[in-house]
Order: sequence, then structure tokens, then C-alpha cells
Amino acid sequence: TLFSELKLHQWVNENIKLSGYGRSTPVQKYSIPALMDNRDLMSCAQTGSGKTAAFLVPLINHILQNGPEAVYREAPWGNGRKKQFPCALVLSPTRELSLQIYNECRKFGYRTPITLAILYGGRENYKQQISKLGLGCHILIDVMEQGYVGLTGCRYLVIDEADRMLDMGFEPQIRQIVELSTMPEKRYRVTAMFSATFPKEIQILAQDFLVPNYVFLA
Ligand code: AMP
Repeated sequence: TLFSELKLHQWVNENIKLSGYGRSTPVQKYSIPALMDNRDLMSCAQTGSGKTAAFLVPLINHILQNGPEAVYREAPWGNGRKKQFPCALVLSPTRELSLQIYNECRKFGYRTPITLAILYGGRENYKQQISKLGLGCHILIDVMEQGYVGLTGCRYLVIDEADRMLDMGFEPQIRQIVELSTMPEKRYRVTAMFSATFPKEIQILAQDFLVPNYVFLA
């Protein structure tokens, strides 16, 4: 399938062309329309399948189509400065994968007002990362060592390489962010999970994090 058939925002289409992508991969072909339709998604996709673009393209498209400025609000502690709370959160198991997502995101968000931030913990960088977050961002990529970030405005949640996250023992952290933070309930957000395998533990996570009629891609 050609990307140009997907009715994407013109800027996204242009950036896809600049990336040199002509045809979508199978995971993109099925994931992009489902997410553009605001459906929840469980996708069994390997690294190299093009899964990153499969969630970033509809995500960036969604932000552009809703008007990137729509989510600018004054911070609740009100100093008159508008702050951008993330409207999308991408959870990833490693710093390396987060950087890959960040770079893909920069490609698809090129020459758009979309802003990104990456949070990868490590005490030495923590202050710097948080102060950068103070400037706000649309899309926050988080390597599970997160600090406190207001997620009330988060309408889009991606959990990448979910099986690897569980293997690394991150289940409590994922549940903390998804179920115990200010993240909106599942019916008020779009959630996309990606996992190379689909064992029992991932099935349970999908049941807990996705609305019951989620799209399943094997
Ligand atoms: P991923 O599975 O997301 O790690 O992507 C694997 C690699 O394939 C990345 O280097 C992408 O830049 C590239 N890629 C993803 N989608 C396409 C596409 N539709 N056409 C050409 N290359 C792609």
C-alpha cells in the first residue's frame, strides 16, 4: 500500500517521502488506519517490521490534525506561562530503543510544531531532563525510570516491546504509570501495544490496558 492512500496530513506525507518510504510495510498497512480510527491496538511485530512508524505516523498525524496548539495550557501552578503537557506517552524498555523512536519521530515531525522530549533517568541527567520538560512537549518518550510528569492531557499511549519490558522486570513501573498516575482511563485515550511475542502475561496486560474491542494484529 502507498502511504499517499492513507489520507494523512500533508506535512506527514511530505516527511514520509523525505524519509524515502514509498510503500508501507504490513504492520504499517494495518496499524495506521486502525490508530487513525482511534481504535486500541495489540500488534505482534518484530523489530525491523517498521513498527516504529506504525505508531508514530498516526500519532503525529493526530496531533497535527487536532492543532498542535490546542494542548497548550497554563500550568496549574500558574505563573502565566503556557506549558505543553504531553499529549502522547511512548514507553520503551531501553535507552537505545528510545533514541531510535526519538530519531524516527524527528523525521516524521520535521518542519512541524511538534515537540519531543525523552526521559531516560540516570541521576546525573535527571535535572537537565526535567528542566527541558518544563518547556513542555507533545510527545514524551520514557525509559521507565521516569520522574513525575503530569499526564492528564495524555490522549495517546504506546507501549513498545512490551514482552521485553516484562522480561526486564518493568511490570510494576508500567502499571504505576498506566494505572496509578494521572494518565486518563483507557476509554479516554488511544492505547497501542507492540510485542514480538504474545504469551499469557502480555495477554493479561492487553486485557488491562486496552478497551475490549481492540484490534489484534498477528
Ligand atoms: P522498526 O521495525 O520500526 O525498527 O524499523 C526498521 C527499519 O525499517 C527502520 O530503519 C526504518 O527506518 C525502516 N522502515 C520502516 N518503515 C519503512 C518503509 N515503509 N519503507 C522503508 N523503510 C522503512
